[in-house]
Amino acid sequence: MKLNELGLLVVISGPSGVGKGTIRKALFEIPDNNFCYSVSMTTRKPREGEVNGVDYFFVSHEEFATRIKENRFLEYAEFVGEYYGTPKDYIEKKLDEGKEVIMEIEVQGALKVREQKPEAVFIFIVPPSKQALYDRLTKRGTEKGIEIQRRVEKAEREYNLAYKYDYIVVNDDVANAADRIYAIIRAEHAKTERSIHKYYKLMEGNQS
Ligand code: 5GP
Repeated sequence: MKLNELGLLVVISGPSGVGKGTIRKALFEIPDNNFCYSVSMTTRKPREGEVNGVDYFFVSHEEFATRIKENRFLEYAEFVGEYYGTPKDYIEKKLDEGKEVIMEIEVQGALKVREQKPEAVFIFIVPPSKQALYDRLTKRGTEKGIEIQRRVEKAEREYNLAYKYDYIVVNDDVANAADRIYAIIRAEHAKTERSIHKYYKLMEGNQS
């Protein structure tokens, strides 16, 4: 029953370079949204322009390991040699406040969230083609050759897990993809299991 009073947890996932971050930013530009972004923690070094506490919390391997021991992550995963994790406290607080919490994470982590938060909504972003993913990773210029190769190989394995998600959204166009995600979120709110409790309350109110 409490589910109806809680916010919705939305997990946006998919291969590196597919445009998850760009889509997420477009989603946050939708007027009057109730979204909060779950800022992840990582051991990777900041890229040019990335801001600590906004894009990620950048921490050392030691600090990350301490937080694992203290059980402070909802999930964490190793991704091409670095660690990435979702701080648990923030998510729980925002969901309790009734906010929509948007997570943008890779596939292993998303599947761990699924085990713990089966009520969350899982969206897998795919590129319009394999070549498009490669082009995007190359063009963004944030990774070197070997790193791009590792990410492409990882993406190949990740595609096979798409069937575990609730929705698949093709990133053919950023604004379109963000629109589709917004439509999914609205539809999820109307799902019977999320809304029937509110409906009953409303009907009780009408009778008295
Ligand atoms: P990047 O280094 O490109 O910022 O991120 C690499 C991958 O890690 C991306 O697929 C990104 O979505 C994912 N990622 C970012 N934060 C988290 C997190 O907290 N947990 C997990 N499991 N993956 C994350």
